[in-house]
Amino acid sequence: MIDLRSDTITKPSDGMRAAMAAAEVGDDVYQEDPTIAELEARTADLLGHEAGLFVPSGTMSNLLGVWLNVPRGQEILCDELAHIVRAEHGSHANLHGITSRTWSSGGTGLASAAVIEALIAPPAGFLVQTAGVEIENTHNFGGGTIQPYDELVRINQVCRGAGVNMHLDGARLWNAHVVTGVAMRDYGTLFDTVSVCYSKGLGAPVGSVLVSNRANIDRARLQRKSLGGGMRQAGILAAGCLYALDHNVDRLADDHAGAAALAEAVRDRAPQAVGDAPQTNIVVLSTGARASGEVVAAAQQSGVAISGVGPHTVRAVTHLDVTADDCRQAGEILGKLLA
Ligand SMILES: *Cc1c(COP(=O)(O)O)cnc(C)c1O
Repeated sequence: MIDLRSDTITKPSDGMRAAMAAAEVGDDVYQEDPTIAELEARTADLLGHEAGLFVPSGTMSNLLGVWLNVPRGQEILCDELAHIVRAEHGSHANLHGITSRTWSSGGTGLASAAVIEALIAPPAGFLVQTAGVEIENTHNFGGGTIQPYDELVRINQVCRGAGVNMHLDGARLWNAHVVTGVAMRDYGTLFDTVSVCYSKGLGAPVGSVLVSNRANIDRARLQRKSLGGGMRQAGILAAGCLYALDHNVDRLADDHAGAAALAEAVRDRAPQAVGDAPQTNIVVLSTGARASGEVVAAAQQSGVAISGVGPHTVRAVTHLDVTADDCRQAGEILGKLLA
């Protein structure tokens, strides 16, 4: 089976397991785990922030990041396909009393400064106050799209001008960085809080890091504990993330090449199924009149696992546990199915 359902399905390599087994650990609720401290400091430095916090998932990282920026009873603005509003089970509202308003980007996930400027609520007693804007880069349900850096700078200017905070869901910021060459720090410093995932394309089994200023991270550390996210000798996990940071960032280019080859192989056989060339490691395919579930089942029968993302769309995600050959072969199989 060529499993392209997600880049979360990767398993730790032998080298990563060895690094995890050898990790120096301590009780992190007492802040005595040197491996976690190292991961937090390195991630913060990489993104141009003062401090970092290791958390079990990207969802918890976003939950804490948005909470730092938006008081109870106020709102966050984001894309209608954002992970925070589509895949986090209402937790920002449910646990933190935060509401959201969304903009539409026609399925691309891409944000525009003009659209955001028009959405920010003016200070008025009868309107929900806009406290934060959330950007996702790359954009998962938008098909792995990259937010253009110049537009992010303009969005930052709009938000700064309006006194609105900014959170970046950078679950796959690594992928954007590898394609554009924009430094992680240049992306990171545009935002008040940034979340990055080590468990997606970087291949670690568990872990995300939230970065911000020291005061914010001190607050988030207490809130993480109250959410049940205080972990003990979790340096074993952080060691996997450090290994990923040292070995698996630049190789994301291979995943992007695999996605491009897959899309081309589909295009050769079923041009109507493929839209724009993939920007990173996510290939979205149209199933035309056929239900996506039916195509997912047929692909499974032919040895390719993909996932349905809409009634007539499926996606294939490339990652470090598939080869270039697997990607091309999967594209041929999917192309025949969709022809
Ligand atoms: C995967 C993902 C997350 C967080 O996912 P977890 O499964 O909670 O680690 C957040 N944002 C985006 C865009 C993602 O793709």
